[in-house]
Amino acid sequence: MQRKVTALPRSIAGIALGGAMLVRFLTPQIGDAQTKSAQSENSSASQRSVAAMSPYIDVHTHLDESDVGGSMQSAIDSMLAENLAKIVFMPSPFTLADANRFDVERLLPAAKKYPGKIALLGGGGTLNPMITEAARTGDVGPDVQKKFRERAEAVLAAGAVGFGEMAAEHFPSSTPYEYAPPDHPLFLLLADIAAERDVPVSIHMEAVPKDMDLPAPLKSPPNPPRLHANIAAFERLLSHNPRAKIVWAHLAWDNTGYRTPELMRWLLQAHPNLFMEIKLDPVDTGLTSPLTNGASGKIKPDWLKLFTDFQDRFFIGSDQHYPQGSGPQRWQAVVLLFNEFPAALRQKIGTENAIQIYHLK
Ligand SMILES: [Zn+2]
Repeated sequence: MQRKVTALPRSIAGIALGGAMLVRFLTPQIGDAQTKSAQSENSSASQRSVAAMSPYIDVHTHLDESDVGGSMQSAIDSMLAENLAKIVFMPSPFTLADANRFDVERLLPAAKKYPGKIALLGGGGTLNPMITEAARTGDVGPDVQKKFRERAEAVLAAGAVGFGEMAAEHFPSSTPYEYAPPDHPLFLLLADIAAERDVPVSIHMEAVPKDMDLPAPLKSPPNPPRLHANIAAFERLLSHNPRAKIVWAHLAWDNTGYRTPELMRWLLQAHPNLFMEIKLDPVDTGLTSPLTNGASGKIKPDWLKLFTDFQDRFFIGSDQHYPQGSGPQRWQAVVLLFNEFPAALRQKIGTENAIQIYHLK
């Protein structure tokens, strides 16, 4: 895949931190950071497959675009072992430079074979590149907005149950580094379209409460040396259209140290249209895991209280790739967290919230 580091637009370099309350969250919690050796021990422990104690819906999964049918069949074959009830597949948040980018149309024919089991999000292969391009060039004129709306409506007309995966701050993985301010005019337009159609928008965004140096152990390149503050801008997106359901992906996989239960509580309290997908990566647990050993162990009390107090606002979104590769699996790590929840909480976060917000049949 061709890799290109996107230039950072200067226009947002001076974004001021919005809200005095944010000051409380400017200190990262890095006390939970794991050593590499501890991670490896967890990794081998989690290779024993443990099913979810209640059925769950995974609202964030990816697949091999060169074998969509085989990938979906392998996911279906895994459902019993995981106690997985339904799966939502989505394209990655691609850039224009990604030669392998695809969108919901590539996934539809195979997904139709599994009604009630597989649903799709779309836009990651087309709308997301339009946003990152517009953020790079600064062109958000009427023509760009018209094309964006047409494409967004086509994604839904094709059968997507929402928009994803979009990216506002994304470190390189299968796609290159990506940045766009979450209150970019095209994100605001996407929120309006999502509200009109009552569908969710899944956004990948590292938590950056203030402009900051790239945190270790991330390297520049391929990342930029500095990161742009995005929480105040994210709040502007949430406030822009309160009827738009914004799903912040990858809670519990925190790569800056700022996605703390305290900040999440404050944002969930302030914005009733904010939802979150929960992900745990057993190979790279991040900096603020809800579990005592990163990808295993007991749930920490402040996290359990967060999940309990806002139990209508979370989904399981493992970021699992199908077919499963070798080594520890993401679905397993998040299921170990899920199994720490009381039964009533598992029912809400496992299935009920996803059925309601994604309108799954
Ligand atoms: Zn993601």
